[in-house]
Amino acid sequence: MGILITDTTLRDAHQSLIATRMRTRDMLPIADQLDKVGFFSLEVWGGATFDSCIRYLNEDPWERLRSLKEKVKNTRLQMLLRGQNLVGYRHYADDVLREFVHLSVKNGVDVFRIFDALNDLRNMQLAIEVVKEHKAHAQGTISYTTSPVHSNEGFADMAKALEDLGCDSVCIKDMAGLISPAAAVDLVTTIKKKAKIPISLHSHCSSGMAPSSYYAAAEAGVDMLDTAFSAFGWGTSQPPTESVAAFFKDTPYDTGFDLELLYEIGEYFADISNKYRMLFTAETTRPSVNVLLHQIPGGMLSNLVSQLREQNAMDKYSKVLEEIPRVRADLGYPPLVTPTSQVVGIQAVLNVLAGERYKQVTQEVKNYLMGQYGRPPGEINEDIRKQVIGDEKPIDVRPADLLKPELEKLRAEAQKLGILKKEEDLITYALYPQVAEKFLKGEITEEKLPSAADLAPVTAGGGGDLPVEFSVDVDGEVFNVKVASVMGKMAVSQKTAQPVELPPGAVTSPMQGMILSVKVNVGDKVAAGDVVMTIEAMKMQNDVKTPHGGVVKEIMTYQGEVVNNGDLLMVVEPDA
Ligand code: MN
Repeated sequence: MGILITDTTLRDAHQSLIATRMRTRDMLPIADQLDKVGFFSLEVWGGATFDSCIRYLNEDPWERLRSLKEKVKNTRLQMLLRGQNLVGYRHYADDVLREFVHLSVKNGVDVFRIFDALNDLRNMQLAIEVVKEHKAHAQGTISYTTSPVHSNEGFADMAKALEDLGCDSVCIKDMAGLISPAAAVDLVTTIKKKAKIPISLHSHCSSGMAPSSYYAAAEAGVDMLDTAFSAFGWGTSQPPTESVAAFFKDTPYDTGFDLELLYEIGEYFADISNKYRMLFTAETTRPSVNVLLHQIPGGMLSNLVSQLREQNAMDKYSKVLEEIPRVRADLGYPPLVTPTSQVVGIQAVLNVLAGERYKQVTQEVKNYLMGQYGRPPGEINEDIRKQVIGDEKPIDVRPADLLKPELEKLRAEAQKLGILKKEEDLITYALYPQVAEKFLKGEITEEKLPSAADLAPVTAGGGGDLPVEFSVDVDGEVFNVKVASVMGKMAVSQKTAQPVELPPGAVTSPMQGMILSVKVNVGDKVAAGDVVMTIEAMKMQNDVKTPHGGVVKEIMTYQGEVVNNGDLLMVVEPDA
């Protein structure tokens, strides 16, 4: 029997190349053709697609799944599940996980690829169990990386542990495209000695090695590979489906696919890719061996480069590159994949821009150091931990053990908002409360595809200490952030694009993002350094602290408002 293929064109490929922007209407016309090829599965859901649907496309992700299921009768539909993080960026309570998996199966998911960014099995265990309860395929996943604390023996032990947890197959998830042909041979061989379940290799062409590594892995006995149609392949995406099928032809690994049918489908996607052409960049479509030196997912690296260039701040480039592996080492060498890629990447940027390491820290880094993401692969730098969380004692239990059931409380909230029309809406709301509320109220409009003119470099107005604006692409997800270099008396208000004089006692936003919560009321007494708000930027939660003490006189923002760097958030009247 030949190699089994999972085609990722409808999920990882467009997540990796065009920030997860493919529309359902571009998927459905080719679904029945895809169904004829004989793929083991089609990866069509999960990862960033859920978020992207409701945030940018005004599409119901459940509806996408159902409409694909109607057309795909013979091929398994697959999703990427971030373990206890589901398709979000934090741990959800067990009742949310159970209901999410239940509804995913009900709406059409057959194969669940389940991973945890720290490879902490405790964060994957319940998902595996619930998937098995629903008689679906549980694919346990190893987030592949290289570091002083990772080894192929260790990964093979993890594969065996996943098998023991009841997984039907195991996936080597090489999200940054780091695996070389020799490493692939060694890893597959080592796993085969310890585990019996089929092995899937998922890689990206980021370093250019993936097609060769696929062939080498096949010779070492890998059972399944991930590919994407060529118009959405190569670069930071998967090796092309057509080429992989062609290079295995008439070998023991022959996929048995009809190359003419693949060509026809390939032409369809080539046509579709034209619509999205302005979203493809040279950096994501060209391989770069830099990824091997820094282990930074390709899209993230290239976006940092282009943004720094536009800001005339290329002097920061090498500093950021050096800082990312240092932050990763401080945090005990997590593999860089959602959400650890964001946690590490954004902290590195903050460390460089603040001119002092860990002077400004995201809430997520605090949570990470408190053990709230799980157990890191290596030792955490204790000096850094102490600097950030002081004498607080990190947790050592499974993080979700500390979460109370969430669903009934969320149901009451959502009912009050009048946004529950079907049971899936509750899960959408549980995953992304702020965005889901807008989406379910019909307040999201579909983002327009950019034209050439839209992509002209943006120059910031004003003068002096300009905020540095970043668009960071991590694992195919784009985050926008502006970080103030200095908190001065003058700020450039992005709302008016005019420099404004700030009143005494002003508390301004340190970055662009959405207000998650306002922690004080007018009339409250606050001390300098108190957390007065939290703001979500780059999907990280950041504290906003008041630089001065006094009484809250006026609050200019509200929960859910999108604010820019330097915007006036509140006024604190200094103590008389
Ligand atoms: Mn991937």
